[in-house]
Amino acid sequence: MNIRTAQQIENFSDALARHNLDVRRQSLQTLQVNLGKLCNQACSHCHVEAGPLRTENMERRTIDRLLSLIENCPEMQTVDVTGGAPELNPHFRYFVSELRALGKEVIDRCNLTVLFEPGQEDLPEFLRAQGVQIVASLPCYARENVDRQRGSGVFDKSVRAMQTLNGLGFGRADSGLSLNLVFNPQGATLPPEQGELERDYKIRLREDFGIEFNRLFAIANMPVKRFADALEREGRWEEYMQTLIDNFNPTAAEDVMCAALVSIGWDGKIFDCDFNQMLEIPHDGKAKSIWDIEGLEELTGSIAFDNHCYGCTAGAGSSCSGSLG
Ligand code: SF4
Ligand code: SF4
Repeated sequence: MNIRTAQQIENFSDALARHNLDVRRQSLQTLQVNLGKLCNQACSHCHVEAGPLRTENMERRTIDRLLSLIENCPEMQTVDVTGGAPELNPHFRYFVSELRALGKEVIDRCNLTVLFEPGQEDLPEFLRAQGVQIVASLPCYARENVDRQRGSGVFDKSVRAMQTLNGLGFGRADSGLSLNLVFNPQGATLPPEQGELERDYKIRLREDFGIEFNRLFAIANMPVKRFADALEREGRWEEYMQTLIDNFNPTAAEDVMCAALVSIGWDGKIFDCDFNQMLEIPHDGKAKSIWDIEGLEELTGSIAFDNHCYGCTAGAGSSCSGSLG
């Protein structure tokens, strides 16, 4: 576990209590599934610490167990598939096809450059045929900022990938095929106002590259894993935590994504969100896997909060779908 602690930081749960907030999971609307840590990139801010040498991948038996739980949970409507690069899991297409056959909405958290990996030539067409929603990281509309955070050449490949996806209808008005982009700050600052940033992105990407997309999600950098390590190396961890705490927003706290979402690890372990998964903070205080439960509806109730949660409640709030409220 690598949550840093500092004397002067008010415990996140105490901050909730001070604002009379009792945040719990009332119902499960989204299941976020991490298919593994293998990725064709190794971004400097990656909270999964994913990369080309990682070998963790969800196995077929785990996917089948999940499908059976999902089939028996009609109120859970959306499955958010993430990684690593989830498309590199050999069972990705099977999982997506089965979920669509069950009538579930599927989100693919796609890094865009994976479209150019060997064997992925027909990936865009597969995603189109299945009606998958694409959420793709693009932390800036300027080449140098993207390449600094995500690796040399990533911006140009991302542009080509978005043009390919636009060509199939993704991100185009009235196509029903969504292409949403994710922004995260380059450093230890909060994201700017999401709507304004989305307008800037739309203008720049359309004028410079003829690219269209639906929504921009502005996400805060969470103080965990690679980003937390970088903050510590730069001696800025306490300063960033203080920024998050000073900007604690009780309204955002009422809407944190874990109130309607559960995260499943590549090995079937259950967590309250992707960040808790990476910090190995188990759901309900005890390690549980998808083989320990009878149904997904058991996963309502209390949430394991810790001080990294200030990253979700600062300013406009932050979730995997952008700012809150
Ligand atoms: S593309 Fe995504 S999963 Fe892969 S290293 Fe970058 S942030 Fe991590
Ligand atoms: S880090 Fe996870 S558990 Fe904490 S508030 Fe955010 S979504 Fe909820």
